[in-house]
Amino acid sequence: MNDVIISLFASAGYDRAAQGVAGAGRRLAADCGAQLHAVIIGAPDAAMKAAVAAVADAVTIADIGDYQTEICLSALTQICKTLAPQAVLLSNDFYSQELAPRLAHRLGGSAVADGLALNLVEGKVRVNRSVYGGKAMATIELQRSPAVVWLRARAFDPAPLRPEATTAIQPATLDLPTRVSTTIIERKVEAGDEARLEDAKVIVSGGRGLGSPEPFNELQKLANILGAQMAASRAACDAGWVPPSWQVGQTGKKVAPGLYLAVAIHGASQHLAGISDAKNIAAINIDKDAPIFKQCRFGIVEDYRKVVPLLIARLNALKK
Ligand SMILES: Cc1cc2nc3c(=O)[nH]c(=O)nc-3n(C[C@H](O)[C@H](O)[C@H](O)COP(=O)(O)OP(=O)(O)OC[C@H]3O[C@@H](n4cnc5c(N)ncnc54)[C@H](O)[C@@H]3O)c2cc1C
Repeated sequence: MNDVIISLFASAGYDRAAQGVAGAGRRLAADCGAQLHAVIIGAPDAAMKAAVAAVADAVTIADIGDYQTEICLSALTQICKTLAPQAVLLSNDFYSQELAPRLAHRLGGSAVADGLALNLVEGKVRVNRSVYGGKAMATIELQRSPAVVWLRARAFDPAPLRPEATTAIQPATLDLPTRVSTTIIERKVEAGDEARLEDAKVIVSGGRGLGSPEPFNELQKLANILGAQMAASRAACDAGWVPPSWQVGQTGKKVAPGLYLAVAIHGASQHLAGISDAKNIAAINIDKDAPIFKQCRFGIVEDYRKVVPLLIARLNALKK
């Protein structure tokens, strides 16, 4: 049976998302009676090479220099055409979301986004994903091979280690395009000390109801006391009050904290789609009928300008 390929980025290391992709890949490969082949895009360090070699049957490194979608797509296409995989699995980062459908098209396969479970049924890959902003689940059978799926990677357990494995790590032989149709004008690197929102245990998130960027400073104080990370609704990000990387929801990040505190966030279905895996949701909203309260374990119907300072004072007092 043909390989199952997992595509990982060297820049991310063998993080929790990569581990989830590897775990999903290993189980699908076992179902297919196939090998798990990891493709690492970029130049991985020794730790990542060792970690991936410990879970995959083969590792190919595609060092394409600075990331450029078309070049990455060309590299992945060439590797996949050589290996003719049954499935190609990617993580739910922005690059993979952009790559997956185009890769499927170039390989003559099928693509599906945001997979939460994978199965092989009568030789076809089936993917479960949530639809209608998380209100229902769909099972999609991918008719054409390879199945190219980007996964909500943290929904999958990591791959088991194979300490005895002697996995070959090989550089890919690639014929990369020298001209591409897009030009990168500027690269902005996110603050390196910012931990991944997807891994946060506690999140304090602000919405358009805050009214301006300044109240986010107050929320930051609350987040500092709680050891939380900051996030926001799309409306707050689109207003330019906070960076787009803070956006939680259907077109933002999917988070799974122990506590998600939504401040002045309405609870639109597109926002809720990003927090359905949160263990506890709490909200502060002036409108008792705001839909966020239907998802909440704890809710406070009040102006955030009254509640947030009180919470900060109370939590500080408790800490002392
Ligand atoms: C295809 C598509 C994808 C989308 N993807 C996303 C996504 O990924 N993430 C996302 O968040 N949205 C997404 N949206 C947008 C989404 O539909 C909502 O427009 C957005 O979530 C609204 O943000 P909000 O709740 O901050 O703002 P609003 O809807 O304006 O809600 C503000 C809330 O603040 C409350 N409020 C006002 N003043 C106060 C106060 N003083 N104290 C306390 N509460 C107060 C109000 O009662 C209200 O409930 C998407 C939309 C589409 C069409």
